[in-house]
Amino acid sequence: MNRPVFLSDYLKAKFGEKVHKVSFKLGLTCPNRDGRISYGGCIYCNGAELIPFSYREGMTPKEQIEKGIEVVRRKYKVNKFIAYLQDNTGTYGFEDYIMNSISDVLGMEGIVGISIGTRADCISDSFYKFFSEISKKTFLMVELGVQSINPRTLEIINRGHGVKIVEDAFKRLNQSEIHTVAHVIIGLMNDKEDDVKGLAEWISKNEIKGIKVHNIVVLRDTSLEKMYLNGGFVPPEKERLIELYKIFFNNIKSKVVIHRLTTDADKRFIVAPEYAQDKNSLLKDIKLAIGF
Ligand code: SF4
Repeated sequence: MNRPVFLSDYLKAKFGEKVHKVSFKLGLTCPNRDGRISYGGCIYCNGAELIPFSYREGMTPKEQIEKGIEVVRRKYKVNKFIAYLQDNTGTYGFEDYIMNSISDVLGMEGIVGISIGTRADCISDSFYKFFSEISKKTFLMVELGVQSINPRTLEIINRGHGVKIVEDAFKRLNQSEIHTVAHVIIGLMNDKEDDVKGLAEWISKNEIKGIKVHNIVVLRDTSLEKMYLNGGFVPPEKERLIELYKIFFNNIKSKVVIHRLTTDADKRFIVAPEYAQDKNSLLKDIKLAIGF
């Protein structure tokens, strides 16, 4: 790939100083959990693990952001923030409530943009319109779960949608000034070298502006944990995982911003593989292998 640009550097160049994300939640759920699509969720997903650190029951979105800013400002000495709606499926729920909450948060001092994570099959026409409007006034990032482009893998992980709908969603989002982000997982069962190569090419072809790359981890209280304990899933060895990362990055031909290189799952939730417990060492080895 071209010279890598990491999100922190990209934001610093864009806003002239360091910018930090501050998460909030709205109490949203996910159609892949509440029965609209399935009850099981994606096999690797543990909803509880997504709760922002500043969240306390009953807090409004603005209160969560205020609290988050207070902590982050003290810790990292930053004055500009991106509000991050990290809450299952960020566009799934009462639309007015979600949109009004986003608008409220965007009006807060120090907030220079917003990042929203969601599913491609949960963006209504009203949301596309809303996103297009707010992207004219603020920096908007919309992150969609892709994970793999192999239909069989998507079936095994119980993703609940195929890749075509994700492609269409990115196409539509890219018509506005939106920083589109693909969330992908390296090391999924069934994904071979060609799938990882294909995923990288797909990202370039679809002009996706950012990537969030996660290594597969088995989290507790997930279907994947059951599979792992039954012997139905063996996480890749570290060397194999790094090999797949190399294939992936060697085949990214477009200019993308790297949002993450490894999973951000809380260590306390990680059941396997053991090497995933030491995130810094894994990150160092991956960066070394892919030449970053
Ligand atoms: S990964 Fe996302 S889409 Fe899948 S179950 Fe979890 S919140 Fe839902």
